[in-house]
Amino acid sequence: MEVLYLSAEAAPWFKTGGLGDVASALPEALARLGHQVTVVTPLYGALLPGAPPPAPTGLRAAVELEGGPVVLGISAAQRGRVRWIFLDEPGLYGRAGIYGEGGADYPDNAVRFGVLSAGGLAAMRALGRRPDVVHANDWQTAPAMMLAKLAPVPPRTVFTIHNLAFKGLFPPDILRRLAWPASLFTPDGLEFFGDVAFIKAGLAYADILTTVSPTYAREITTPEMGGGLDGLLRKRDDVLHGILNGIDAEVWDPRTDRFLPARYGRGGKLSRRGGKARCKAALQEELGLRVAADRPLFAFVGRLTWQKGIDLLLALLDGPIRERAQIAILGTGEPDLEKALRARAAAQTSGLAVRIAFDEGLAHRMTAGADFLLMPSRFEPCGLNQMYALRYGTPPIVRATGGLADTVRDASPDLSSGTGFSFGPEEPAALRAAVERALAAFAKPDALRAMRERAMAEDNSWEVAAARFDRLYRGLAP
Ligand code: ADP
Repeated sequence: MEVLYLSAEAAPWFKTGGLGDVASALPEALARLGHQVTVVTPLYGALLPGAPPPAPTGLRAAVELEGGPVVLGISAAQRGRVRWIFLDEPGLYGRAGIYGEGGADYPDNAVRFGVLSAGGLAAMRALGRRPDVVHANDWQTAPAMMLAKLAPVPPRTVFTIHNLAFKGLFPPDILRRLAWPASLFTPDGLEFFGDVAFIKAGLAYADILTTVSPTYAREITTPEMGGGLDGLLRKRDDVLHGILNGIDAEVWDPRTDRFLPARYGRGGKLSRRGGKARCKAALQEELGLRVAADRPLFAFVGRLTWQKGIDLLLALLDGPIRERAQIAILGTGEPDLEKALRARAAAQTSGLAVRIAFDEGLAHRMTAGADFLLMPSRFEPCGLNQMYALRYGTPPIVRATGGLADTVRDASPDLSSGTGFSFGPEEPAALRAAVERALAAFAKPDALRAMRERAMAEDNSWEVAAARFDRLYRGLAP
């Protein structure tokens, strides 16, 4: 089938989080199953290092706005079997950030992503392709689900919720500015407590809804976690599917990872002098931590936000763990949390390394070099880092929510089963107790090595998810 896949970010070109990884790997996995996949994303100003540079095709697409059309250049890049298309409009997209800068969203995001949503459909017309399926992701491209319905021969539509917490809320006059029908401003349409919610264009109009884990699919239909959208989601429960994200098994493979100082695989390579031990020593050195194999090293990688439980992490840093373990933190996010972490790092002279940065290579080295990965998320639609950690033999310590609950098996008391450590309550004491269990496991090298092996044996590749999307797409065929 001819598939248009719309996303506000796609690795390796542009990425702030999991969506970028998904939009890179899933289209390729779908193409391997025989689909013709075109991914459309904006051409932002700051290409990630090493990304194959998009080049202009000479084609153009136009999107009608209130004051006249905006014309988008169409650039393309080569990689794998997918057609990668970048909408080029420097005034809208040619900036350093994807969604904003310095912790603040760009004020014209409604126009930027409204134009992306319409521009994706227009770009397909310019390319002479007629999609059978339009697959959009999160609020930024959700309007494509509604706009697709306005076409003379509407394509089928699939909308994936990566994070329901981001709704894309804007004042109602945005409908006029984007030249969308005013009739959409109803509770059954895009209206959400007096605002326009872009995400509702996906939730209300798409033929099929998916989200990124079975547990999150259940959670978002509850008032506690539905954020006011649970009613609509309950109404659409019959078309809502929880499909676990996969990981890019080529980019995240400890046997071949080009970012690592040493490489390792399963089966006896986790010894004291094996590749993982060398990664740990090199990481300790890189981060200015004492190089000591017998010192348990905990890592956190990710966005520094309330969602990720950074406040729980901060409370952990104040506890007794600081005398018994090393902690490494890599992330960017809310300015207050960045500041608090910087202050902790300045106050604590040893055992704590904080890097406020987006650093792909360091993320790989931390995933490989750490003994355990910390992921105390308040909610986690799927989460990728815990799956990377499993693959790298780094048992994750997670709060049992969303995709974390679906991918990490809690260790049994004797450590004979399980791939990580999970806890329930959103409380520092619960995280601390899970960390204590990990520390106890660290004191039993044989049992811990067996646990690392079990973690590395988990299969979280994209093939499983791609096969499910394949079935959903086919079920939509006219
Ligand atoms: P989310 O999508 O909520 O941010 P995920 O766990 O699904 O969380 O995906 C996060 C992705 O972004 C992972 O690939 C992770 O390695 C990457 N990432 C997040 N923050 C950083 C950072 N500061 N440096 C490098 N990679 C990061």
